[in-house]
Amino acid sequence: GETIGILGGGQLGRMIALAAANLGYRCHVYAPEADSIAADVCAGFTCAGWYDAEALAGFARACAVVTYEFENVPVAPLAALGDLALHPGTRSLEVAQDRAAEKSFVEGLGGRPAPWATVDNAEDLAAAIATIGTPGILKTRRDGYDGKGQWRIMTPEDAAGLDLPQVPLVYEGFVTFEAEFSVILARGADGDVRFWDSAQNAHKAGILSQSVVPAGDAVRAQVDAARALAKQVADALGHVGVLTLEFFATAEGPVFNEMAPRVHNSGHWTIEGALTSQFENHVRAICGLPLGSTELCAAGVVMDNLIGDEAHDWPAILSDPANHLHLYGKAAVRPGRKMGHVTRLVL
Ligand code: ATP
Ligand code: MG
Ligand code: MG
Repeated sequence: GETIGILGGGQLGRMIALAAANLGYRCHVYAPEADSIAADVCAGFTCAGWYDAEALAGFARACAVVTYEFENVPVAPLAALGDLALHPGTRSLEVAQDRAAEKSFVEGLGGRPAPWATVDNAEDLAAAIATIGTPGILKTRRDGYDGKGQWRIMTPEDAAGLDLPQVPLVYEGFVTFEAEFSVILARGADGDVRFWDSAQNAHKAGILSQSVVPAGDAVRAQVDAARALAKQVADALGHVGVLTLEFFATAEGPVFNEMAPRVHNSGHWTIEGALTSQFENHVRAICGLPLGSTELCAAGVVMDNLIGDEAHDWPAILSDPANHLHLYGKAAVRPGRKMGHVTRLVL
């Protein structure tokens, strides 16, 4: 067993570490937070932040390969990893951590995002609204997740009243969609690509609430086109590991929303619902092993996120044999925080 380094200490890192342990690997987590829930299940390197060169060098010495569970890891300090293999690579990270870069990249491959424009000040925003119209969404180019760093703009007057944050932004037209779905693939070091079934995803307040497999007819009709684009993206990036693309299913076909160069919340159902989970195939890919089958192993699967301090009937959840409960061990409950999930297999 070699040691895998994981940049980022959230639930995705925790689930990668658990899958890695099953394959006989040890993991070290590198995260700025002292109480990382990923380091709870393996060894951790606490650091003063992403730019703590000394801690990063120590982490690199302990690892045979490094991956990330979070796309907002800054790229520059990773030069300190030297020759150590980083999978997926820095190109995947650079493109996916900037909404403008990911949209341009996907357009370059023939994909179609919502109409969009970069915005750095109030004049840019007014110009973007004049071209694209309302309603629309203003988003920070970097660092957003779970709908954070987004402002819905219903009328040009909404924009006029906004106190613009002093960071690079994008304005995008609001997409009228029939459904949302994700394409999750694993790409091996040899270029082998496997797709899991696409889940139909429902969001509440910008946060993923539920993923259902199989998806409805509107999504199923568009999955092939979306997969073709996702494979092109993965190949063009030389991506090794799991890659996720989020789409809107519209009357005009799939509209690209965003990508994540990592395992994804809408793929948690694969732990019990697929022959090989997204976490295991991610570990296999970054360690140069053959990928496992992504085939569904139930008639259907429903994954519900457990968010914030919602009340749950734990005995009822646990006494239904179709259910699989996952709790992430987060000490503090905050509104909108992902605390766990339940996967229900339809047998
Ligand atoms: P994630 O946690 O998935 O990384 P995020 O903060 O990056 O989320 P987005 O995926 O950009 O946010 O947006 C969150 C949700 O808001 C989308 O899944 C969708 O439901 C809605 N949304 C975002 N952009 C648009 C759009 N242009 N048109 C319609 N709905 C949108
Ligand atoms: Mg995102
Ligand atoms: Mg999203």
